[in-house]
Amino acid sequence: MGKSVICLSDEEIALVRESSLLVGRTLAEVAGMIGPGVTTRELDTLAETFIRDHGGVPGFKGLYGCPSTLLISVDDAVVHGLPGDKPLEEGSIASVDCGVLMNEFYGDSAYTFMIGEVSEQAKRLLRVTQECLALGIAQAIDGNRVGDIGHAIQYHAEGHGYGVVRELVGHGVGRKLHEAPEVPNYGRRGQGVRLKTGMVLAIEPMINGGSKEVRQEPDGWTIVTRDGKQSAHFEHTVAVRDGKAEVLSTFEHIENVLRAKKSILN
Ligand code: MG
Ligand code: MG
Repeated sequence: MGKSVICLSDEEIALVRESSLLVGRTLAEVAGMIGPGVTTRELDTLAETFIRDHGGVPGFKGLYGCPSTLLISVDDAVVHGLPGDKPLEEGSIASVDCGVLMNEFYGDSAYTFMIGEVSEQAKRLLRVTQECLALGIAQAIDGNRVGDIGHAIQYHAEGHGYGVVRELVGHGVGRKLHEAPEVPNYGRRGQGVRLKTGMVLAIEPMINGGSKEVRQEPDGWTIVTRDGKQSAHFEHTVAVRDGKAEVLSTFEHIENVLRAKKSILN
């Protein structure tokens, strides 16, 4: 609070889009490799190499002491899971969050992957969380308020019996990864900071299959659900526009890879 909200020029927004697209292409590389038996450290190495080969710098690594390029949060981990040597297991879900810094601007996006075959409950949680993201983005228009975004996300998630995490929120994006304003995934219509054309926001619902309560693991990073239920996380970097928000990051490359993998298996 108190930090002033920055509006970016069209030229600056174009640079955020380039960084965000590199995030989307990096997550598509992750999509190609992720599966049962793969370690999250292998995914992290792949992502860092890909980002640096394409002229970017990992956006998280070194920030607030973050040791990795990706934050990978499996099952009951909500966000901020650190990559490690434990292989991913069939039936898990894994949120992969990635940031890129390029040309002085950040991009930030996250996608939750199914590891092999997952339960119907997990599929529903992922679908509803992605719907929450779309509903939040639809509110990111000039003249609305931050509370309109949060309300749309909260209403949809709670309508499905899910918990909306309160402790972690979306944020402005620009020359810093985390700019004002905070963008909570809960809120009241017509409340909070007024949205203006040129504001760039990371909208990132973190939705728990059970209650909204979370705690931090002793590693000082990983946030997990208190009830041990799975949690999902999808994130786009979005520019506020008049009439319709402009999504700067993309899941298109990720979903192309996932479709291709599925058709090979079937
Ligand atoms: Mg992120
Ligand atoms: Mg973010």
